[in-house]
Amino acid sequence: MAVDESGHTMSFRSFLKLCIFIVILLTAFHLGFYYTIENNLITKTYDNFRFIQDHSGRIAEQMRYGFSTGNVNGSANTQRPNGEFIRTPSERWVSQTQGNVNVTANATTDKEVMRSRVLKECPATPPNLVGRLATYRQAFTFTEIEAKLSYLVPGVNYSPKECHSDQRVAIIIPYRNRELHLRTLLYNLHTMLERQQINYGIFVIEQAGNSTFNRGLLMNIGYKEAIKSFNYSCFVFHDVDLIPEDDRIYYGCGEKPRHLSAAVDKFKYRLKTVNGTFERYSMAIARYKMIKHNREKGNPVNRERQKLLKNTARRMKSDGLTSLKYKVMNINRGKLFTNVTVSINRSEYGV
Ligand code: UDP
Ligand code: MN
Repeated sequence: MAVDESGHTMSFRSFLKLCIFIVILLTAFHLGFYYTIENNLITKTYDNFRFIQDHSGRIAEQMRYGFSTGNVNGSANTQRPNGEFIRTPSERWVSQTQGNVNVTANATTDKEVMRSRVLKECPATPPNLVGRLATYRQAFTFTEIEAKLSYLVPGVNYSPKECHSDQRVAIIIPYRNRELHLRTLLYNLHTMLERQQINYGIFVIEQAGNSTFNRGLLMNIGYKEAIKSFNYSCFVFHDVDLIPEDDRIYYGCGEKPRHLSAAVDKFKYRLKTVNGTFERYSMAIARYKMIKHNREKGNPVNRERQKLLKNTARRMKSDGLTSLKYKVMNINRGKLFTNVTVSINRSEYGV
């Protein structure tokens, strides 16, 4: 110790100096850090405050002129089509006056209405998308799916709770006797659509009986039945056996109709037909997995199909939505989907 005293003292001194220097440096950082954070917080608080102020101003104005009717802030979602739809405390749409169905009627108060109007618009790009998806191949039972997705509500199955979206999407699935496919699709679709932050309802249009399956007719019926229950502004026609493989396939509407399944794995992700004026996703995004299945007996290839395609232009005026004849046997508004069972009389369509 004695030998190296001066050397030791020297190094000890420089060590001390270093320590002091570090302490000063840290304190400076610390202060700087606090300053930035505090500043940010203050700005944020100020922004929030302004936001609240804006909204309370608007709410006050609305209170002055009454809440009872119409469109508020130009936002379509607060519209009450036929006075039938309201927002519940959980910010979800529920039908109030559907006659024969099992929908809970929920009263609303002005307070709740106010709350729903304070929601910010959903961002143009939903923030929680993950891109390519690993599709869930195991088909849970309906009860299991309901338990997993307990936030879904009968009627309009989903509306985002964190923000306000103008998209009101009806997803129409023509269906008969494909329960396994349906369960697989529902689980995949609901989990994906929640991240897209749109209001949507799924309609499974089921053809009763054993006569030839008519997919086009069921799609038209789906459209008609869906708008009867809510003023949907966007329609997606969906096969039960196509599972989206990417959550960037947006199920909301843009300006033009869009062909969603640009690429189906069965066709090695290549679209066979050309879509005229349709908008189409890049094949890298719009991937679907097609659940393998055999051709049903009740769904033979239509031998008339070439002939029917040729005279489409002529038939368009009379065939389609205007000529729909069908009978609704049953409507069940479940949490996972609305099931509309219809009977179609083949002879009415000459097919
Ligand atoms: N479909 C159905 N039950 C049937 C036949 C068809 O639900 O017996 C519906 C289902 O939504 C299916 C779509 O119609 O995805 C198209 O029929 P399918 O899958 O038989 O035709 P593909 O396009 O596979 O040749
Ligand atoms: Mn198929």
